[in-house]
Amino acid sequence: MEIDKVLFPEDRIQERVMEIASQVSVDYKDKGCLMIGILKGAFVFLSDLARNISSPVEFDFMALSSYGSSTKTSGVVRILKDLDADIHGRDVLIVEDIIDTGLTLKYLMGNLSTREPSSLSICALLNKETIRQVQLPIKYVGFSIPDIFVVGYGLDYAERYRNLPYIASVK
Ligand code: 5GP
Repeated sequence: MEIDKVLFPEDRIQERVMEIASQVSVDYKDKGCLMIGILKGAFVFLSDLARNISSPVEFDFMALSSYGSSTKTSGVVRILKDLDADIHGRDVLIVEDIIDTGLTLKYLMGNLSTREPSSLSICALLNKETIRQVQLPIKYVGFSIPDIFVVGYGLDYAERYRNLPYIASVK
């Protein structure tokens, strides 16, 4: 696989990330939130987003099983790393790189809601315009994209390309 077309250049991503950060800052103005980064893909987005948020934020991370080196989802989700802290009574914002079938987040929402957070919302950088069987309460989205496989800005293909500052399709 190699890089095909740049879909979102660095400046466009940064601009959109700042817009989302302003909205998060308003929505969680005084109460703040606990941002949960979904590893590994969300680490770049989370770090840019968080540095532009002015309300109080804390961080935790989860790692879930994903594609491995294939580009198709299995629908089977495993927790590889759970949260460090208890989220009971907290305002939680899940930060995810990309939503495709929505199966990963559906599982995660179900799992985290049993821990009784005060609120549980989703912030995703990319949302694939796929016909989804699952309904998700997505509060913030960076960009909608067609059903193509993308890399860069945290997203990998077989662990490569996460460090690209732009988002591109692969061939
Ligand atoms: P879902 O469960 O929504 O089908 O898949 C979500 C996960 O699949 C994402 O967190 C990401 O790890 C992976 N994924 C889905 N689409 C893409 C893509 O286009 N590129 C990359 N690199 N990963 C993807």
